[in-house]
Amino acid sequence: DGINGKLLELKNISMHFGGLKAIDDVEIEVLGGTVHGIIGPNGSGKSTTVNVLSGVYMPTGGNLLWKGKDITKYAPHGIAQEGITRTFQNLQLFEDMSVLQNVMVGFHRHFKTGFLKNLLYLGQVSKEERYYAQKAYDLLRIVGLEERAHEKASDLPYGEQRLVEIARGLALKPDLLILDEPAAGASPKEIEKIMDVIQRLKNAGLSIILVEHHMDIVMNVCDYITVLDFGKKICEGTPETIQNDPRVIEAYLGG
Ligand code: ADP
Ligand code: MG
Repeated sequence: DGINGKLLELKNISMHFGGLKAIDDVEIEVLGGTVHGIIGPNGSGKSTTVNVLSGVYMPTGGNLLWKGKDITKYAPHGIAQEGITRTFQNLQLFEDMSVLQNVMVGFHRHFKTGFLKNLLYLGQVSKEERYYAQKAYDLLRIVGLEERAHEKASDLPYGEQRLVEIARGLALKPDLLILDEPAAGASPKEIEKIMDVIQRLKNAGLSIILVEHHMDIVMNVCDYITVLDFGKKICEGTPETIQNDPRVIEAYLGG
């Protein structure tokens, strides 16, 4: 396992909902220390794949291996404990809380009971809270948002809110970070910032799965890309390979 080894393996993974094959017999190998893109048109099965990887759905077929260990039947908390963290396609921030508080929520598993309540209702600030506030600041610095720490999360532009979500994900100290369309709804400038952050996290040694609908966004930052269409893997390879593959071009033009 670890850098350059197989970190995560999807072995013939299927997720069928009745007759609908949201993903069908998909094989993916994610190597440690890489950014692995999963792309495909709308409805191709990207989010379903993420839901299977994060334990939201138990696949109807196939196996999921994490560092060689079978985690197919793990529930979301079990997957999280293994060091796999995901963000959601739709923002999951607490709108009325500050940016800093939203990141602090990411540390909740370390908290004593009552901590979250204090955060929400601004009770006394304990030593513990100051400790995690400092750690949350450090994460905000990584995503370039330390100056926004005390603003209300919902007052930030959409692209920066996505970065807050990424910072909160980092609080769990993941070995693998799964980002489901982190650039959705962001402006071109914000997208650039988000891709910058992903590049920086990769340089720091984090393994990342980057799910994107738009092909062009992932090309600079991904080491390897899997392309889905109608729940099937239609092609995989380096960004250069993908960009020139006629099946990919057709999937996007036809989709
Ligand atoms: P993507 O993220 O690539 O846009 P999804 O994984 O969200 O695609 O969806 C793939 C297909 O699976 C779609 O046809 C979608 O309607 C279907 N699907 C996703 N989740 C469910 C579900 N819980 N029940 C039934 N169908 C679903
Ligand atoms: Mg999706």
